[in-house]
Amino acid sequence: MTAGNPFGAPYPLVNVDGRLVGRGEAALDVHAHVVSYGTGTFEGIRAYWNPRHEQLYLGEAIGHFERLDRSARILGLPLPFSVAELVELTRELLRANEVRGNAYVRPILLQSGAVLPVRMHDVDVRLSIAVTPLPGDYLATAGVRCMVSTWRRAPDVTTPNRAKVVGSYVGPALAKTEAVRSGFDEALMLTVDGYLAEATTANVLLRFGDRWCTPPGTDDILAGITRAQVMTLLAEGTGRSVAERRIHRSELYCADEILLCGTAATIVSVVEVDGRAVGGGSVGAAGRQLRDDLWAVNTREDDRHPEWVTPVYEEG
Ligand code: PMP
Repeated sequence: MTAGNPFGAPYPLVNVDGRLVGRGEAALDVHAHVVSYGTGTFEGIRAYWNPRHEQLYLGEAIGHFERLDRSARILGLPLPFSVAELVELTRELLRANEVRGNAYVRPILLQSGAVLPVRMHDVDVRLSIAVTPLPGDYLATAGVRCMVSTWRRAPDVTTPNRAKVVGSYVGPALAKTEAVRSGFDEALMLTVDGYLAEATTANVLLRFGDRWCTPPGTDDILAGITRAQVMTLLAEGTGRSVAERRIHRSELYCADEILLCGTAATIVSVVEVDGRAVGGGSVGAAGRQLRDDLWAVNTREDDRHPEWVTPVYEEG
């Protein structure tokens, strides 16, 4: 395993354009358009293994494939399957690989044609779905120390932020490396105007007393599916909705609790920003509770929101 990589060795079978093939056969040509230009869009979906139920559950598979469909429309790429078909192909793939452990599913729609001109039209497109074990934590559940990055989120007028675009991850990758090389765990990225946007692969929520807030979709975030789930759980738990509003950098230094949330990250607490302790400087009670609740929902140990979860193996 590469240092700092929580993923295991990928499973051997991959779905390419609806057909199960070995990983070798799924390999891309070095001349594939996406390799040079990042012209593709992808998703990341968690599969949660519940050993007590001997069942694997896909988290928000429908929501993720609906977002892939929107991303494809934004990029003008044809998505060859419906959302329901994509969920079915993913279930089949997980069964074919006999996945019985926590895993991460990576659907990707990309320009695979060996075409050199830069464009979004008249290049062959391929859809693949691959699976990788994700046995441990993606970000430390004991809490992460963040820096505000010198790299800003690319504004929507340069790269569409509502689409999860392959090439748009260079900025977050630079921000992550800057943070790690500077002795932090993760980066918080601002908009070009200096408002809080998000972490490198996770959205951000802040608590001030009993009020929660999060940057709005118009502040160059990828509006996460986990963010929506957390907002729902908080609204149900507190009876008060989470405010979507612009957030100043200085608010990061006086919040009582800050959470990062994303599919891979799940929900983790930020315990420090730019050397200043958040709340008590340790994982906050609300963050811990939300993390446990969402995990329990995703493994069907908690019967709230069954619509968020799709079982992979036949039930009963
Ligand atoms: N922002 C970015 C840039 C991301 O890559 C992700 C991970 N997909 C998120 C936010 C969180 O989104 P989700 O909860 O849908 O995984």
